[in-house]
Amino acid sequence: MGMGWWAAAGDLLLGARCQACLRPWWGLCPACRASLRSRTPRGTRPTPCPVGFPPTSTAGWYDEPMRRLIVGHKERQALGLAPMLGELLATACWHLIRTRVAPAEAEFTLVPIPSARAAVRSRGYDATAVLARRAAALLRPAAPVRVRRLLRHHRGVHDQSGLDAAARQRNLADSLRVRDAAAGATRQGMIIIVDDLVTTGATLTEASRALTAAGMAVLGAATIAATRRHHAALADRTR
Ligand SMILES: [Zn+2]
Repeated sequence: MGMGWWAAAGDLLLGARCQACLRPWWGLCPACRASLRSRTPRGTRPTPCPVGFPPTSTAGWYDEPMRRLIVGHKERQALGLAPMLGELLATACWHLIRTRVAPAEAEFTLVPIPSARAAVRSRGYDATAVLARRAAALLRPAAPVRVRRLLRHHRGVHDQSGLDAAARQRNLADSLRVRDAAAGATRQGMIIIVDDLVTTGATLTEASRALTAAGMAVLGAATIAATRRHHAALADRTR
């Protein structure tokens, strides 16, 4: 945790600005907190939509404040941002549970998209898994929810940025595997794949494929944010 401490101290000493709007503040200013909490989670799907894309709920747009929070948490281990991001992920998970008509008494397992191996090695911090655990803790009073890191990279993938939707899908095809099939598909309950961001949908589609192939029941996916460019037709048909 040494690096985490230094990163947190750096945020305190140098980053006396709101992490979302950059006005002078520490952490997140009250206006940004209120604005983030006022976002309405909704169902979303990319255009074009990959075959096999799972039902997905997201907490909001990947706009500039959201980008700063997600990148700040991931790249600089700005740990003070984890509670808000975990809260937003929890609202997306709850939207998915509420709208997908999960069987009563179902148990849920949040499965974070694994970080690229090199990224975790250099940072020692799996940002998505951290947020999944926070979301699960918030959801637990309402539903039995746990977190399992069931997915692993089966082979290396190229950097996704700059690739279009079709290229991303080719890049990711068959790239994920379930870590331990012997963990017992039936004991995992309903799977909710979680990630910080959905863009073309290629990653969530590949994760859903890998989990389903291992015999698991995938309820859908939940993300903190969705990119406007790929999700222009965001609409909540469940309301
Ligand atoms: Zn702010």
